[in-house]
Amino acid sequence: MPLEDAISQSERCNRCGYCQPPCPVFRATGVESSCGRGRIQLVKAAAEGRASFTKDYEPILFECLLCRACVEACAPRAETDLIVAIARNEWFKKWGRNPATDVLFRELLGDRSKLEMAASLAFKGIDWGLAKAAQVTGLLRLQPRASVALDWLGSPPKELLTKRLRRMRLSASGTKRRVGYFVSCGVNMLSPDAGEATVRLLSALGCEVVPLPNACCGLPAYVYGDWEAAEQHILDAARVYREAGPLDAVVTDCGSCSSHLRHVAELIGLEDAQLDLVHTKTKDLAEFVSEIARRPTARVDAQVTYHDPCHLSRHQDLTTPPRELLSAVEGVDFREMKEADWCCGGAGSYGIEHAEISKVILGRKMGWLEETGANVLTTACPACITQLGYGTRRHELPVRVGHISEILARAYGADLPPLERQEAEARATEAVEA
Ligand code: SF4
Ligand code: SF4
Repeated sequence: MPLEDAISQSERCNRCGYCQPPCPVFRATGVESSCGRGRIQLVKAAAEGRASFTKDYEPILFECLLCRACVEACAPRAETDLIVAIARNEWFKKWGRNPATDVLFRELLGDRSKLEMAASLAFKGIDWGLAKAAQVTGLLRLQPRASVALDWLGSPPKELLTKRLRRMRLSASGTKRRVGYFVSCGVNMLSPDAGEATVRLLSALGCEVVPLPNACCGLPAYVYGDWEAAEQHILDAARVYREAGPLDAVVTDCGSCSSHLRHVAELIGLEDAQLDLVHTKTKDLAEFVSEIARRPTARVDAQVTYHDPCHLSRHQDLTTPPRELLSAVEGVDFREMKEADWCCGGAGSYGIEHAEISKVILGRKMGWLEETGANVLTTACPACITQLGYGTRRHELPVRVGHISEILARAYGADLPPLERQEAEARATEAVEA
């Protein structure tokens, strides 16, 4: 989508200001350039040549969460997130490309084995106490973002999801459907418990699960403005879909992946027949389970609430299926959270890149979470899980954070330990490591 599209989108803005109150970043900063109206007018000024598109545009563009709360409030539907994304692409071409972004977007995210190797090495370093040593010796002061990242991450998983999947039996007897599982980078590296629960849930529902050897869906490259890399990632994903043979659906438990797989071609103006398969087969987990599931068979005793990932609620309009599925589980006391669709401030690496704004946004969410009295906070996106987990640690809330699949898998009789036992074991491991 070229810059002219950003200009024509921005023509829709009548400057009414209704996008100010729902914008999490504006609520944190109080600055006009943080809200939809401000960002749109500044991009428009640059696109029309009334302002020079300098490096100073970086915070205006990159402090946006792309959460679409402003779009929802906007009567003429000026799509701030699209305008900002187009401008980021221009910014990337002018200022953003460098050896580090090339390694990240074109090497690591384009090749799952390289990404896994890099993540495993980083996690081993944390396990061996190298991070703590760097903190004690003051080395991390030289790299403040690394220090923030370590706090945000907490204890890294012991094992990547793909390694666990190699040990699992993925074909239930008498399977009715053959389902591809799109392995999200985030679930693989940050939330393997969620991924394992997803796969076990699908098996318990009578699906033969085929984990796909996919790399990234392309969202990180797209939001950073590297659309060439994003295009390569989605074409690679399309090839993987094709090579997997006949599939009833490709399911992912990452709201960002499902959204991006469905929309990326349109977003970056890519016309390629190979992508039809990606568009028609991709399903979000809750959406798919709602279509095929019977009533759950097992009790799960928990007070549960749910956080809407922006990529599910506002980018795909999927808010009902997760709530209906959770509420149908015997023993689950579902407690709706106020502003459940208020962005958590995670947005990929936003919590690291814009830590101070992100903490303010997260703090509001934690207040509403506490008010529910829930002991389990569920969501459907690995970045949200990590961010919300960071929030509960930071605000000292005794709430387990996980994916809806972790409740649903148990409710459908999948072979997993009870939630409380898994939680107790995780806490014991953390205590030993501390
Ligand atoms: S709500 Fe829409 S029309 Fe009103 S100022 Fe914001 S972007 Fe412009
Ligand atoms: S997309 Fe979200 S963060 Fe960006 S301007 Fe709109 S409401 Fe604010």
